Amino acid sequence: MLPKRTFRGGIHPLGSSGGSKKPTKGKKIVEFTPESVVIPMAMHMGAPSKPIVKKGDKVKKGQLIGEPVGFLGVAVHSSVSGEVIAIEKRMQLGATQCDCVVINNDFADDWVELSGHGNVEACDPDVVVPSVKEAGICGEGGAAFPTHIKLSVPSGKKCDTVIINGAECETYMTCDHRLMLEEPGRIIDGLRAVMRAVDAQKGIIAIEDNKRDAIAAMRETARGRIGVSVEVLKAKYPQGSEKQIIQAVCGREVPTGGLPIDVGAIVLNASTAASIADAVIYGIPLISRVVTVTGSVKSPANLRVPIGTIVEDMVSACDGYVTDPKKIIMGGAMTGLCAYDHSVSVTKGTGGVVIFDEHMPEHREESPCIRCGKCVDVCPVRLNPYLIRKYIDKNDLKAAEDEHVMDCLLCGSCSYACPSYRFLNGFFKIAKERIAKARKG
Ligand code: SF4
Ligand code: SF4
Repeated sequence: MLPKRTFRGGIHPLGSSGGSKKPTKGKKIVEFTPESVVIPMAMHMGAPSKPIVKKGDKVKKGQLIGEPVGFLGVAVHSSVSGEVIAIEKRMQLGATQCDCVVINNDFADDWVELSGHGNVEACDPDVVVPSVKEAGICGEGGAAFPTHIKLSVPSGKKCDTVIINGAECETYMTCDHRLMLEEPGRIIDGLRAVMRAVDAQKGIIAIEDNKRDAIAAMRETARGRIGVSVEVLKAKYPQGSEKQIIQAVCGREVPTGGLPIDVGAIVLNASTAASIADAVIYGIPLISRVVTVTGSVKSPANLRVPIGTIVEDMVSACDGYVTDPKKIIMGGAMTGLCAYDHSVSVTKGTGGVVIFDEHMPEHREESPCIRCGKCVDVCPVRLNPYLIRKYIDKNDLKAAEDEHVMDCLLCGSCSYACPSYRFLNGFFKIAKERIAKARKG
């Protein structure tokens, strides 16, 4: 019997470990390259990057096309070789327009000159963070936080443990599961590069117990690697949330308003770790990723696509829609965002595209709170969701703040568990944004 670690609260969304993942969890990663890409300059936390190419330019694969802007800026590179045919504002995720570089693929696969540092065990540890920065890596688990900043440990802090998040607790998504099965060496190389860069003694790959094949593959590959081990987590949502995974793996609680580094930990998504390995060893920038394309498509798949591939092209690669799509979710059903239409691009943080059709559950009207306490029971950060909602309804943001709404993970567990179908996390998101804006003045 494998030991299982977990955290308080959480839920088991229907199909999080079985049904919704079933169509793709056995599907090997398949390469797909479209005829053109639409690369957004805003696909990370922080200010949009500044395009440095112009219409008519010929670009190589891996060439810098967007310069980082500001402290949280991230570099953007061309994901194909070809010709820039437009730089224009296009609607992207969140129904916002941003500058996009549109490139026609010439299929020459003509790469820019790359320079890496070779073996992660032998290279100078000081090259890791600059390599990650140059490669434009940001969190591939969805948050898209610039990775070089996460790896820059502030003075006075110490990281002793690097955790690779292989939980993939979100519904529908299987891209990290497949990566752990098919390319475990890249993930462990990335982990070791980071461990050496921040001088951490422990590197832990944390995987939910519903992915036994991935656990076996990672354990086999980790054999003999210094300080690296695999921990088995109980399959539960939101097990992959940073604070919950640290609690489960290290038994440490990140303080309110604090960061993982405050308790000596850094958490990286499995795909991000693989990209770090590519950047350090070969100098390859983050220009492609694995995306689970599933739901109402004829042949659900795990596709490795260039960043900037649009949903419509990926759906074609999956033999088209089963029926007219009703909703396109970028990410999983619990935390994903609704796309404006199928012209939206894959970004560095896009792990899944889920197509819903008319068979999806209908929207249900909310009814008054019956004080059953189920939302409290499932909240992984011990909040009182029903009370916070009551204060938000009264427009009393101070009271909501006093009830720690800013600690809300927006995981949606409370809304999922509520028998009255109360809209909770959606209200909390808006409240958090308003409070954060007020704090900035
Ligand atoms: S209050 Fe926030 S953290 Fe707690 S269950 Fe609801 S969405 Fe998740
Ligand atoms: S789960 Fe829903 S009905 Fe029950 S206390 Fe929370 S908000 Fe009220």
